Amino acid sequence: MIKIFLSLILATTILFAGCSNDSGQNAGAEEVAPEEVVEKKVEKEIPQSDKFVTAAKDFSNLQLTEFNKPVYDAYGLWERQKENLPMVLPDLKPYDEVPLVYLTFDDGPDDKITPKILDILREEQVPATFYVLGYMVQKNPDVLKRIFNEGHAIGNHSYNHDYNDLYSAPWNFIVQMYTTDDILLKLIGVRPLIIRAPGGSAGMFTENYWPMVKAMGYAEHGWNVSTEDATRERPNASTQVNHVLNQLGKNPPRSVIVLMHSTGGKDETAKALPEIIHLFKDWGYKFGVVTPMTPLPW
Ligand SMILES: [Zn+2]
Repeated sequence: MIKIFLSLILATTILFAGCSNDSGQNAGAEEVAPEEVVEKKVEKEIPQSDKFVTAAKDFSNLQLTEFNKPVYDAYGLWERQKENLPMVLPDLKPYDEVPLVYLTFDDGPDDKITPKILDILREEQVPATFYVLGYMVQKNPDVLKRIFNEGHAIGNHSYNHDYNDLYSAPWNFIVQMYTTDDILLKLIGVRPLIIRAPGGSAGMFTENYWPMVKAMGYAEHGWNVSTEDATRERPNASTQVNHVLNQLGKNPPRSVIVLMHSTGGKDETAKALPEIIHLFKDWGYKFGVVTPMTPLPW
């Protein structure tokens, strides 16, 4: 396994250095005669849906106009390397057409709060983004599938959220992301390109983390508003709403990413959610899902 990863990182570093010029080869490979096709391996099945966008092999279709459609990749990192496909995301123009709020829920999916949150989102007809943990997906695969089938975005939030492991070395962080990608690929046939570092990249990443995260083609997003539902104070629903109001202030930004949690014990978050949604609706925000073109909110 370690050898595979080392070879992956080596190849990625080369790609990242700007040596990639494989689009011509790929285009040519599709024009083989039918009798030769038999000898080639079966072409991978790429899931397509009107509920989400599947990234093209070369990521050329990611400059989107839709702000509420999740983006996924049908290829794992290892498959991209094996097939000589690019891993680094292209430069994308951040989406800024209308004021958008992105509701994000970390650390799930659990089997109590996440379903409650999904019910509320369905009732309110708004999409959200769930940054999930690999081990929680293994525990609650049906809840994960519900998130996916109901058109919300799924982001990668590591395998086990263990700071000691994740922040001992950049490579350990990537292994957890890779592991969770793999669990998701097996379950729903696609993996996220969006990730969120447990604890927030601003406080946890050293300078060595960013080049690695970029080389692997991950888009990392933090938040600019938090209900503070994971703090020691354990605020009740109305205090959580007040946190949102206070942090937005008198001139709320056009792009708001709200941090919340959808895991055990977060009943007050579910209680606060309808009011938080109504506030943003009243202010004229539209509800987006996080994609690689979502602007960093600061
Ligand atoms: Zn977290």
